[in-house]
Amino acid sequence: MFKPFDDLASRQLDGGRLDRADALAVLTAPDEEVLGLVAAAGRLRRAHFGNSVKVNYLVNLKSGLCPEDCGYCSQRLGSSAEILKYSWLSAEETVRQATAGVAGGASRVCLVASGRGPGDRDVERVAAIADELKTAHPGVEVCACLGILGDGQAERLRAAGIDAYNHNLNTSESRYADICSTHGYDDRVATVEKAKAAGLSPCSGLIVGMGESDDELIDAIFALRDLASDSIPVNFLMPFDGTPLAGTWLLTPLRCLRILALARFACPGTEIRMAGGREMHLRSLQPLALHVANSLFLGDYLTSEGQAAKADLDMIADAGFAVLGTAAGSDPALPSIRKRGAGTELAPNA
Ligand code: SF4
Repeated sequence: MFKPFDDLASRQLDGGRLDRADALAVLTAPDEEVLGLVAAAGRLRRAHFGNSVKVNYLVNLKSGLCPEDCGYCSQRLGSSAEILKYSWLSAEETVRQATAGVAGGASRVCLVASGRGPGDRDVERVAAIADELKTAHPGVEVCACLGILGDGQAERLRAAGIDAYNHNLNTSESRYADICSTHGYDDRVATVEKAKAAGLSPCSGLIVGMGESDDELIDAIFALRDLASDSIPVNFLMPFDGTPLAGTWLLTPLRCLRILALARFACPGTEIRMAGGREMHLRSLQPLALHVANSLFLGDYLTSEGQAAKADLDMIADAGFAVLGTAAGSDPALPSIRKRGAGTELAPNA
């Protein structure tokens, strides 16, 4: 194992706090040292999560039709990306889709809606959906991802039995205005803080590959550390036609591994999730990434198809890992949960 990264892992296991110089060393690790970097980050992953992989499953409650202008998002205002557009799935359809994910080993269902943020009627609608979901699957965690929260809405969601709230910071504070003009970085931080204050488990992460510098990426990851996010989804930009970031291909598989390792070194005991774009950017290195990340989305993303669910589960087993908290994971009917067919889109970013 490459000694400097192994020493860094030892320091983190002893309760150390990653500094900027170490973070930069991780991001700039030479290609021939990336395997050593993964092995060192893997010590932290195993110390906190053993060989378990948490499986999450997305249900897109409301798709497209968003008035916001996030540059990475095919659901944005003015997007010409070919995606499905619809307004609010029924509770019955939501439970039907979620049941397929749970059958595939998902221990968390993420209920996502496009838009700036929910109205109070929307919050009541999601509360009712969550209630039906919890009745059907009492052991499953439910995460809501509905955008910027107003006063009292996080408390209402928590009272409805929702466990977690996702709202990604996406990038550094200094870059935020470059990717969105209709809301600000502070709005995002405030919503995560509201979720935390209401007792919802905070889930907040990144989209990488949008042209951020190493320093900006470190800023973003350190901000998530300061925010004490319980889970950090790392999305790899999928540059859709019809969005401002179309044609932005800046990531390599080794760069993706370095970024995941940085998240692990900065937040050793936090759930690090390989999220949207992992298939196209990590490519054949996805199994290696499991030694750093301890969580993934199963199957499809919001408006795109991911890797077939059966292939995900085979990958987990083949790499020597086990799906967290379930004996499921080899259901031959799993490919049928691929439920969308149009367009391509990111994991939850709303
Ligand atoms: S990320 Fe969310 S808020 Fe931004 S454009 Fe997409 S759906 Fe709208």
